[in-house]
Amino acid sequence: MIVRIVGGHGGVSPGFKNTSYLIDGKLLIDAGSVASGLHIDEQVHIDHILISHSHLDHISDLAFMADNCFGLKGRPFEIYTSDEARTSIMKHMLNDEIWPDFTKLPNAKDPTLRFHTVESGSTIELGPYKVTMIRVNHPAGGHGFIIEKNGSSLVFTQDTGPTDAIWEEAKKCENLKAIFTEVSFPNSLQGVANASFHHTPQTLDKELEKMPTDVPVFLGHIKPNYQNQLNDEVDALGHDRVTLLSSDDVSFVF
Ligand SMILES: [Zn+2]
Ligand SMILES: [Zn+2]
Repeated sequence: MIVRIVGGHGGVSPGFKNTSYLIDGKLLIDAGSVASGLHIDEQVHIDHILISHSHLDHISDLAFMADNCFGLKGRPFEIYTSDEARTSIMKHMLNDEIWPDFTKLPNAKDPTLRFHTVESGSTIELGPYKVTMIRVNHPAGGHGFIIEKNGSSLVFTQDTGPTDAIWEEAKKCENLKAIFTEVSFPNSLQGVANASFHHTPQTLDKELEKMPTDVPVFLGHIKPNYQNQLNDEVDALGHDRVTLLSSDDVSFVF
């Protein structure tokens, strides 16, 4: 699988984009930067979209992608998320007040965006991918995903505080290639991290003990303000298997 980090951050400023990971050009995880980070012909190419939760840094570009690709795709973008996240996105964003309801445009039978609700813990098949959706420790319907293709697996959980279920599931994966998770704030902002259900390097250090061993771990969702500080603090943990994402639009092949 080719994982393209379109945006690996939990905020926006020049050089930093909100969360969007694209697998093989076809399967998108979160829509924080899918419109600002991809050309329109690349956006049109996406078939399936997984949404981890309804916070704005993970959904904002659904609005602009739908607008960009309106009438170009010939079939809907199929979106998979929890009922909680879908309800919030429809109520607060695609409500014809903040943005048009693209689940009814150009018509409800053949719309631009089509939502599918997925139960926590269940596995769905999307083309060659098997996707298992696991609840994590984050509000707004927070979920992570285990994605399997041709006998290899990847774990993606961006926004989360300390959590357990996804690591238990990850240990059952036969050929786990990598874990993508988060560190949002530096250690000095532990109170903010706790209140917002995110990690600092010191809580991540403990979290790593729960993860399957010998698997590379990539850390995203860095708040742009703290990129340099987090580089230093994550480096000081001394874990060879851990990589902090810095530049957006980089790709990894597994
Ligand atoms: Zn976020
Ligand atoms: Zn969040």
